Amino acid sequence: MPIDGTVKRVVLFDIDGTLVNAGPLGAEVFDRAVEAVLGRLPATRIFMSGKTDPLIVREYLHALGLDGALMPGVLARLEREMAAAAFTLPESGRALPGASELLEALADDERLHLSVLTGNIAPNAAVKLGAFGLDKWLDLETGAYGSDNEDRAQLVPVALDRLAALRGIRLAPSQAWVVGDTPRDYEAARAVGAHSVLVATGRFTVTELGQLGADAVLADLTGTDPVVELLTADL
Ligand SMILES: [Mg+2]
Repeated sequence: MPIDGTVKRVVLFDIDGTLVNAGPLGAEVFDRAVEAVLGRLPATRIFMSGKTDPLIVREYLHALGLDGALMPGVLARLEREMAAAAFTLPESGRALPGASELLEALADDERLHLSVLTGNIAPNAAVKLGAFGLDKWLDLETGAYGSDNEDRAQLVPVALDRLAALRGIRLAPSQAWVVGDTPRDYEAARAVGAHSVLVATGRFTVTELGQLGADAVLADLTGTDPVVELLTADL
């Protein structure tokens, strides 16, 4: 455990589209869970990027004209389906370019605490990161997840509270940096005055992400040194 006072900044990584591309399995797991519990699928697939798992399930339920009370059952099934898919994830998807090199480099810096801010429910986040060997550099216990709040914009304080409660590290929102791939990642940071770096390895382009007001927008996470410099600036 880092000594209190050493850590000056927490970097909260989104998972899908930022560190990992789960490939077709990412959405298939949703379809399996929805079909298993609800017996059918909507005519068109829900757009998932940047949304929390509970929000995606809510939109599935809405598209099918069903009640939100069915959500916990679908989320429980989603956890089971992801666990069952764990061993096929490495064939379906991949770690995104530069992700592991960046995490490895940042993990060496004792001024930083590395965790996640993701729409995935917590168990599925661990499965996805573990499948691509990225979990070893991230403190997943202090992360914030879709299972904590359906609204991504509420998640930075969740991560900061966990960091204080579990590690004795008290940081202000302005000491948090969110790294994500969608306008919703930016919004999660902006909502509380945290910083953000957006990366165009998901479904949004550099141009689209560049209009939001993030601290930086990158094509991808390759070229480790400049990204480390960006995330450790002014420390
Ligand atoms: Mg994402």
